[in-house]
Amino acid sequence: MITPFHIIAATPIKLIFPKQFSLLWFSIVNILIDIEVVYYFLTTGYPSHKFFHSVLGVSIIGFSCFVISILLKQKKLPSFLGCIIGAYSHHAIDYFWYDWSTHGIY
Ligand SMILES: [Zn+2]
Repeated sequence: MITPFHIIAATPIKLIFPKQFSLLWFSIVNILIDIEVVYYFLTTGYPSHKFFHSVLGVSIIGFSCFVISILLKQKKLPSFLGCIIGAYSHHAIDYFWYDWSTHGIY
């Protein structure tokens, strides 16, 4: 799914838990994950969802962003929830949205 839809889907979480959830880190994680799709679209003409949309791929991006957020001295709980919910909700939403047999198989 296109990145803005992932972010729009998270806004209710932000409204319900304004202090415990970082929409900024959620957005950063989702944008980074979808750079893969842009890359494949530009290089092959096909918006494939491969490694960085797999459980392992979103985990690497989600936890890497959390480490970066700690290095930038962001608040831990909101950053953690933003990164981790961002990563796994992206995987879950795209998993049901795309035909994985032709667009990527993870
Ligand atoms: Zn995606």
